Amino acid sequence: MANLHFHYGTMGCSKSAQLIINAYNQNKNGNKTEIIKPKIDNRFSANSVDSRIGISANATVLANLDNWTPAPDTRMVLIDEIQFFSPTDIDKLVHIADSRPIIIMCYGLMVDSNEKIFPASCRLIEVGAKLHRMESTCQIPGCMHLATHHLRYDANGNVVRAGEQIAVGDSNYKSVCRQHFNMLYHGVGRREQGGR
Ligand SMILES: [Zn+2]
Repeated sequence: MANLHFHYGTMGCSKSAQLIINAYNQNKNGNKTEIIKPKIDNRFSANSVDSRIGISANATVLANLDNWTPAPDTRMVLIDEIQFFSPTDIDKLVHIADSRPIIIMCYGLMVDSNEKIFPASCRLIEVGAKLHRMESTCQIPGCMHLATHHLRYDANGNVVRAGEQIAVGDSNYKSVCRQHFNMLYHGVGRREQGGR
């Protein structure tokens, strides 16, 4: 089994739920797990990973992985929102995965709302993490295409085309297919309502 994994998908594709279920199953099999999530800016971060479907698990909140080392008996590390860590943090994970009998499962986003890859996600690809795409459908009503992109909206419902790559919370985001991204972000292409 590969020892470094990247489960990626758009917002709302059940990444956190899958992380929690994976940790639960490992614990049930007697394998000790550690769950980590990023501390972002100075926002309050609860010490848990929470899924929209109502399940949660305790987590350690870290700004970076500089001073973190898994416990000696940890068999699996699960990291939520990996895109908010840095490429240096990914390199540290590589070192741990390659020097200890441990499996590291990263969960997060591939691209931001400007169709740019997150640096940590890019680094995971560069270092050969095993990639697992988690699929969900475009959130534009009537569309059944694979969601691969994010659109960010301001308070007036206008698409935001600039700004910080790191913005938290998904209330002003939609996960959309490439066609709808290009149509709504760039104004190119035409699609019939609900058509393919
Ligand atoms: Zn779509």
